[in-house]
Amino acid sequence: MKEGIAGKVIYRKDYTAYPWDVSHLDLHFDIGMKTTVVRAQMEFQLKAGINAPHRIVLNGSDLELISITLNGRVLTHSDYSVEGETLIIPDAPQNSVLKTEVRIHPANNSALEGLYLSGEFLLTQCEAQGFRKITWFPDRPDVMTTYRVTLEADKAGFPVLLSNGNLAGAGESPDGRHWVRWDDPFPKPSYLFALVAGDLALVEDHFTTRSGRDVSLRIYVEEENLDRCDHAMQSLINAMRWDEERFTLEYDLDIYHIVATNDFNMGAMENKSLNIFNSKYVLARPDTATDADYQGIEGVIGHEYFHNWTGNRVTCQDWFQLTLKEGLTVFRDEEFSADMQSRAVKRIKVVRDLRSRQFPEDDGPMSHPIRPDQYLEINNFYTATVYQKGAAIIRMYHTLLGERGFQKGIKLYFERHDGEAVSCDDFLAAMADANGVDLGRFGRWYSQSGTPQVHVTDQYDAASQKYTLTLKQHTPATHEQKDKQPLVLPFALGLLTAEGREIPLQLETEAEAVTGTRLLIMEETQQEFTFIDVPEAPVPSLFRDYSAPVKIYFDYSSQQLATLIAYDSDAYVRWDAAQRMAENAILEQCRQHAQGIEMVVDSSLVKAFRGILSDHQADPALLAEAMMLPAEDYLADQMEVVDVDGIYAARKFIKKGLADELTVLFSECYARLKDGRPYQKSATAMAGRSLKNVCLSYLLETDTGESLAGAQLEASDNMTDTLAAIQGLIMSDSLLAETALAEFEVKWKADALVMDKWFVMQAVKPGSNTVNTVRKLMDHSAFSIQNPNKVRSLVGAFSMLNPTGFHAADGSGYAFHADRVIELDGLNPQIAARMVAAFNRWKRYDEDRKVLMKAELQRIASVKNLSGDVSEIVNNALR
Ligand SMILES: [Zn+2]
Repeated sequence: MKEGIAGKVIYRKDYTAYPWDVSHLDLHFDIGMKTTVVRAQMEFQLKAGINAPHRIVLNGSDLELISITLNGRVLTHSDYSVEGETLIIPDAPQNSVLKTEVRIHPANNSALEGLYLSGEFLLTQCEAQGFRKITWFPDRPDVMTTYRVTLEADKAGFPVLLSNGNLAGAGESPDGRHWVRWDDPFPKPSYLFALVAGDLALVEDHFTTRSGRDVSLRIYVEEENLDRCDHAMQSLINAMRWDEERFTLEYDLDIYHIVATNDFNMGAMENKSLNIFNSKYVLARPDTATDADYQGIEGVIGHEYFHNWTGNRVTCQDWFQLTLKEGLTVFRDEEFSADMQSRAVKRIKVVRDLRSRQFPEDDGPMSHPIRPDQYLEINNFYTATVYQKGAAIIRMYHTLLGERGFQKGIKLYFERHDGEAVSCDDFLAAMADANGVDLGRFGRWYSQSGTPQVHVTDQYDAASQKYTLTLKQHTPATHEQKDKQPLVLPFALGLLTAEGREIPLQLETEAEAVTGTRLLIMEETQQEFTFIDVPEAPVPSLFRDYSAPVKIYFDYSSQQLATLIAYDSDAYVRWDAAQRMAENAILEQCRQHAQGIEMVVDSSLVKAFRGILSDHQADPALLAEAMMLPAEDYLADQMEVVDVDGIYAARKFIKKGLADELTVLFSECYARLKDGRPYQKSATAMAGRSLKNVCLSYLLETDTGESLAGAQLEASDNMTDTLAAIQGLIMSDSLLAETALAEFEVKWKADALVMDKWFVMQAVKPGSNTVNTVRKLMDHSAFSIQNPNKVRSLVGAFSMLNPTGFHAADGSGYAFHADRVIELDGLNPQIAARMVAAFNRWKRYDEDRKVLMKAELQRIASVKNLSGDVSEIVNNALR
């Protein structure tokens, strides 16, 4: 099935309010796999100030209209018009009750949008515009109404019938059919509608809110997964308690459902009281899920739960405001994870994610502000910019206003807008008004795209003991926006002596000095900050806790970086200094490699790593983060023209060099952490495993690693250790890798989620031969091109996480990938569009690769009936 082909561009400035209030929607589903009949009754009242009669505009897509009546009168073709996805009734009276009956075909729906089939059960996905594939309705987020939903089906095939809200009735008929009715008292937009129908097993717990409401918590999964729901349930309970404690927000219905499915385009969906999850973010058992999976589940369960207020109770006026709910809710889930686990490590992971996914987006053909001004296909704007950069901007409100000020703003936001569909401007106004501050200039973050660059220089005058930092900010032009303005940047800093002591900070204009991190505000193109009584030329510790989402340029010496790595009080700065040092070393060797000069390992990097490995005080997870070398893609972003093979060779060389120089320390650290104790889920145990497995990955560059990995695999009682061992064996080209993969396959071949990991491990193996492995794996019985998780694990991992494979000089990776995009476009345009983005940065490569990638993009563009999703991305990339 196709999306609207080559649709038209929608502009934010064209927004107009819907002229009707819809006071209620009554839905009746007669459910069947092949055919489902949907009856809808909608009550329309014209808004004040608009004269009747007035036209009613509805949206629908792929619907077989059986009948339509207005205030009891059957409408004929001459009473309304249908064009594309709109149905227009030209002259409807002030109070109009509209009834429709349509037929839809869930089993044929491969786009996984609207009502579709997953395994043996039916479910829905409506955000952003899937509801129009279910019934005719004003399918836009600013039309909020209450829903009553009656689901009727054959009881044997569909014993479980779920929709939003509280249970309002159920019954059976003698012919083996039954019905269940759900009432949702909270008005909601159509994108939050959901239904699930099928034979699912249930895990149940409950939560008592602080005002005493007893909420039944129900996780529905397929029978064989019943023993993998504990962590998700615990995460849900933690999230409910956390939102009460930190945000004073309580749950508002009697039931909270989570349903897990293997067939899902996204991570999860926050439908009111009926969350639908990609099973990847629900199911976990120590032997099937890694520590990263456990953390991911906690984060996503929290995220969807937090939407109940930030997204559901207060929603978006139009889809341009998507970051209103997503940026804010990502910020909330980041804070939840930080409060549950290590705040410092969570912060570093967030920063790494922003730099590796969002910065390239800003620098590519799909750049857009967090609140875009236009789109062709809204599904293409569920981006790292809207989500991750959106969250970074919410974090800046928090940094500027403090926790108390931020919570005051949130409180006012809900007082003003509960039950409404609003805009990002309304959020900003609530924050400003609650705190009595002017945030007008800060608002530029919503409309300006691109990553700001901040160039910092310093000057120390020994005679006067004055130290001046000069900051210049500049945002490079993006493809859709040439002129940029200076932005408001919270600038947190500290100054260290060469021995790593914190210097008290006193600006020229101030009466006394303060010790510790200072928060300054940068809002002009250029600003100077002069500190007095600075006893020696200091080491600046800049943008502590990554106080603004910018690229920071400062010409650090190796000695200064070493000081920051060893002594800075801020975990982000320590980590960032280690990354900078490694990045400098790798890029330097990459240049040497290009000129045919023999590579060497930088001695200051070895020294810094020795220090990290000898630090027995710090959180092991933090040390692990510091020793993970920057990813190839991130390094590629730092080069004018990407040298794919040079980066791989230099990174590998530095890694091996560090491993050779520090074998003893890596071995000792590994041995210390390999304590032989049984698996534990605690944050401490996870931190230990992460450092242990980073040590193993280095040791695998030496002669000692292979036997350690083999032994670890043998003894492992959890997926984290198992995967680290096999992945390490693959990466180091060990002969043991093949056996390990084969045994893994035998053990897990019936387990969809675990087999995803098996595909990823093989897809990311460096080198030009991997494309053949990937091609072969597409015929594996566990693979299906119809399933998004499988596509992401094999095709996505190959194109996004395997630079030397995807960018193989002969173009074989490109050709393979383009074939998959074309194949997917006919099945699932959303996933095809995600995949085609691998070509987005083609202009940054050498001439030969540019020509090859451009040809593939043109080949995709020339496909007949290409979906709007893919054509928007491809045409932007080619422009
Ligand atoms: Zn979300």
